[in-house]
Amino acid sequence: MSTGKLPPAADGLQLNFCKTLACRNFGLSDAKHYLLQDSDPSRPGLVCRECGAFPPLLNNQEVLIELNRLKQQDTGNLAACHTEGCVAQGRPVLTNREYYHAFGYSGERQRYRCKHCQSTFVDKWSSSNPKSEIQQRLLGLLFTGHPVREICRKLSINPKTFYDHLDQIAARCRNKLASVDARYLQMCKEQPLASSMRALQPQSNNGVFWLATGHAGHGYVLLQSINYSADEEAPENTADAYQAEARLVPDGFPYAAESHHHQPKDLLGQVNAKYKEILSRSNVEDPYTRPVNIDYPTKGCLIRPQYAAYAQYLRLKELTESWQTVTLYLPQETLLRSAIISIFKDRLGDRLCHPVYVVQSPSWKEQDSPENIDIMLLSWWRDRWAFSTKGEASKAISHLGRDTGNEAHWLQHATTHEMDEYQNRFHLQFRSLIDEPRRRLRPVACCLCWISTVRGITFAAKTAKVSPQHSLWDWLDTPTHWPIC
Ligand SMILES: [Zn+2]
Ligand SMILES: [Zn+2]
Repeated sequence: MSTGKLPPAADGLQLNFCKTLACRNFGLSDAKHYLLQDSDPSRPGLVCRECGAFPPLLNNQEVLIELNRLKQQDTGNLAACHTEGCVAQGRPVLTNREYYHAFGYSGERQRYRCKHCQSTFVDKWSSSNPKSEIQQRLLGLLFTGHPVREICRKLSINPKTFYDHLDQIAARCRNKLASVDARYLQMCKEQPLASSMRALQPQSNNGVFWLATGHAGHGYVLLQSINYSADEEAPENTADAYQAEARLVPDGFPYAAESHHHQPKDLLGQVNAKYKEILSRSNVEDPYTRPVNIDYPTKGCLIRPQYAAYAQYLRLKELTESWQTVTLYLPQETLLRSAIISIFKDRLGDRLCHPVYVVQSPSWKEQDSPENIDIMLLSWWRDRWAFSTKGEASKAISHLGRDTGNEAHWLQHATTHEMDEYQNRFHLQFRSLIDEPRRRLRPVACCLCWISTVRGITFAAKTAKVSPQHSLWDWLDTPTHWPIC
């Protein structure tokens, strides 16, 4: 319960404050700036005394728990010193060679020694894969559309072994990708990024969404996560931001009558309709706090979307620490806006972060130069939008950091197209796998592995320019040796 205080900071992290950039209280977390109440759950728990904004409360500790869960999935086990308190702890050999000596081999595997604490460790990924042959056949069959049961029959394995192989392939992909990510982050400073978000299994209504962030220009996927945890159980009740387990969604969505909204044809109508949907939520950052039909997964637990999104952008903040500016193109979604504004608040204050909403009609040609720009202030947030029309096509952007005067630049360059395409391709290519009825209610049986694998494929196909599964395999099967001179 609140007792007139904000949810406590966790490890220095405090995400509860006014999120209106122009407000004097922006980024300030002193309770005296706000009206705090918890007696009426239908009213906001926190209202800014200065501008009247009502940013939803978050449990900071729970955001960190989600961040750690995400890190465990995407670190990829790059070889690094593991000694608690050592300056080299967690710094991969790959990008921090100055911390390590090569130290012989353990069997086929490369051994390293930390120069600071003298501990030694082996790179478990530096040997070749003994299961290469069967895994290569399995992947080939999956890519050519064979159902799981048939693959098991052809390879004389049972379904458990099938999924174990898939796990191992995905782990290998994650490891390889972690090494590419490390290089990407060193080399691609300042490059604009884009996020896209959609249901992981569109036919299933199981409440699992998939948020991906990557290079806006060529679609290299840097981060992706889903708001589902296979290892946790759904709680009995909804916890508020002052309680433990605030990030977990309980089972038991009330039945919601189907409502058929017709999608307005013009872009302005679509933007306004989206704001209307957002404001119909009791928590504007949580798409599941309005009447929606969700078939809750039969195992595991859904994570509140805002905790998943804040965690991904916290991770992005860590990864881009050495970048001068961070530019991020987004679909129109308050959840993402709030997360970015909160996490990059210092950069926003220094004008070193450019979050930009972008919506466009399908017929808009990428890189088209805009004409006849109309400026409009929309919604409760008074977001400043720039609309441009070219024949039948139209596009609109809103710079959430209120950068004015550069509308033509953002209209021309801001795009989430590559990231949207990445998610489209995944859905098209693996339709039978992701929409198989049994898997709808058990989302992670393979989907998390698949999105890692497909990220690997996307990367391998782009670099090798040959058939996707072969280039993926060559790439995966090359042992990662990082020789140190
Ligand atoms: Zn305010
Ligand atoms: Zn060490």
